[in-house]
Amino acid sequence: MARKKKAQDPFVCPRCGTRVKEPIKTWTLVSPIPDKKGRITITIMGLFKCPKCGYSWRAVIKKIKSEVGEPGEEEGEREPGEVIEIDLSELKDLE
Ligand SMILES: [Zn+2]
Repeated sequence: MARKKKAQDPFVCPRCGTRVKEPIKTWTLVSPIPDKKGRITITIMGLFKCPKCGYSWRAVIKKIKSEVGEPGEEEGEREPGEVIEIDLSELKDLE
């Protein structure tokens, strides 16, 4: 059975094609160098083992871009404080 190669599925055994439900182990790799926008890429890796042929492999499960605030580059946006108006004469009337 010849199949077209799709995007590589990290859960599928590269040797026999059995789909594994869960990785044995997962861990994260954090890129030490942020990109131009100061974001860091966090890669979630998984260690898999095929229950059928016993082959084990590592694969990237997910990549996450993390927003990291750049020091020294503050944004000029400020939330305006909420103004609560109290009519003092009304308070006096309550006493
Ligand atoms: Zn296998």
